[in-house]
Amino acid sequence: MNPKKEKTFVLIKPDGTRKGLIGEIIKRFEQRDLKIVALEMFQPTKEEIDNHYPKDGKWMARLGGKTLETYKKYNLDPMKDFGSEDPLTLGKEVRKWLVDYMISAPLVKMVIEGVHAVDMVRKIAGPTLPYQADMGTIRGDFSNDSPAVANAEKRAVANLLHASETPEEARHEIEHWFKNESIQSYKRFGVDE
Ligand code: ADP
Repeated sequence: MNPKKEKTFVLIKPDGTRKGLIGEIIKRFEQRDLKIVALEMFQPTKEEIDNHYPKDGKWMARLGGKTLETYKKYNLDPMKDFGSEDPLTLGKEVRKWLVDYMISAPLVKMVIEGVHAVDMVRKIAGPTLPYQADMGTIRGDFSNDSPAVANAEKRAVANLLHASETPEEARHEIEHWFKNESIQSYKRFGVDE
């Protein structure tokens, strides 16, 4: 595979759409010589979102584990918000909030192609938790949320966008979200020629 042709998947989340950041987010990828090869705004069904996020215990326990770390760091009590300290129980609850959040407004899905597209897009987006994201990243420049606040309000952390973490996850997500649509192929000035 030509390294310039690596593809990744991005989903602008409800807060990204509602804050009017669709253009800004796309601009940040395009200005870094990455190429948009598929793009669509749509209202997802609960089932589509449920199938987007992994359902295995390992993934949910990881999500719950990260939540526990935040609770520990800020001296908060997981028993108060979750009634449990078990990572899997917490992860399952966070996953439910995540599904509710993701269907609360239209999303924008896209496929992005370019050199190290998976890592580059994650770098441009910034880390998962907005309060930890550096200025200059999309999350660092346009959001400020934390599990400490979100979990107390029984909702998912709002962080503007989703981006695939590995090339394998990207392949899986592109297949899930662009089943029948075609991915475009074109040459970008200064990048492909
Ligand atoms: P990423 O989206 O960066 O790949 P994860 O896969 O770890 O991050 O988490 C999926 C999504 O779940 C995050 O983007 C965020 O919206 C939400 N989330 C992650 N951790 C928490 C948490 N502790 N509490 C609430 N929501 C969370």
